[in-house]
Amino acid sequence: MSGLYIHIPFCRHKCCYCSFVSQPCTGSPPAAYLEALLKHIRQYSRLDWLKDREITSIFIGGGTPSLYDGKSLARLISACRYNFTCQPGLEISMESNPNSLSPAQLSLCREAGLNRLSIGVQSFNDRLLMVLGRSHDRNQARLAFSMARAAGFDNINLDLMYNLPGQSLDDWRETLRQVMALAPEHLSIYELSVEPGTPFAELWESRRLNLLAEEEVVEQENMTYTLLEDEGFERYEISNFARPGRQCRHNLNYWRNGSYLGLGAAAVSCLSGLRLRNIENAETYIKMVCQGLTPLAEGEALSIEASFRESVIMGLRMLKGVSLTDLQLRYDLHPLAYYGPILHRLIKRGLIAIDDNYMRLSAEALPVANQILAELV
Ligand code: SF4
Repeated sequence: MSGLYIHIPFCRHKCCYCSFVSQPCTGSPPAAYLEALLKHIRQYSRLDWLKDREITSIFIGGGTPSLYDGKSLARLISACRYNFTCQPGLEISMESNPNSLSPAQLSLCREAGLNRLSIGVQSFNDRLLMVLGRSHDRNQARLAFSMARAAGFDNINLDLMYNLPGQSLDDWRETLRQVMALAPEHLSIYELSVEPGTPFAELWESRRLNLLAEEEVVEQENMTYTLLEDEGFERYEISNFARPGRQCRHNLNYWRNGSYLGLGAAAVSCLSGLRLRNIENAETYIKMVCQGLTPLAEGEALSIEASFRESVIMGLRMLKGVSLTDLQLRYDLHPLAYYGPILHRLIKRGLIAIDDNYMRLSAEALPVANQILAELV
């Protein structure tokens, strides 16, 4: 599998918790950035690496790609489809925010081939949305969802967050109740984390940000898992839930440590073990691409062992786990032999299980997954 990722680094304004590469922009994002992207697409479509390779998924992320109008987005999607050899019926996803969608724009995107929409809802509580510094309210989120359905999207993801400052268990239950009333196909649910360099980090350091106690977070998580299971969602990755057959194919490729090409400022590519990162600054990116230069900031060739460890760590994020046959075929390595006593200890403690030729985290390990994965880096 090979994915194509396109990064749009612009947002209405910066949310208080956000550490993604995006910059605030008033009005429409720069047309020059879109032109640079189109040129970058043409430039990279001639890469030798792409010969005999099909693109199996396209993901337009950000930032807020939906700040562009329908015509611009349709041009971008069509350019990807025209310049790369795409698998028939490939998944084409785009991230969006509730207050940057319109019926005409959604229809144009749909006609161009967009078949999966992700909406950054985060919460259905207006007070909490304000705390997060989001630029929309819950009514706009509901409206965005119904516009997407009306435009023909039958594969919609909602992004949600819990462990928000001052969020009670009832607040979270109410958000989930409203989500279920919309009946999306997919949910990405993340615990709020305080990232360095964000306004929340500043508040946290000066003790002006009150996150929930650990027991409250566990209560929120347990309620989420029970409710989603009852509603027919499968938890297939630590933070991702899907109705049958609606798992995100693009992200599955990441978790399987597959290859992908990243275009746009700050985008990362991983081409058969070669890791490349584009420069972050959007203006410099535009200038370089327009001058015919390759806008790379850095590159790294991963050793077989480093790539193996990444495959293990990423693969363990999926509840099914990582395939031992795949690891053997790809690296000629077995985790038990490679990690030795560290892995034996985790298995003995019941945190990692090996069965049916898959290695996976046990149910007890999931709440402390990050700590366990850190041991295998
Ligand atoms: S909309 Fe998303 S990418 Fe943009 S600032 Fe907010 S969290 Fe960051």
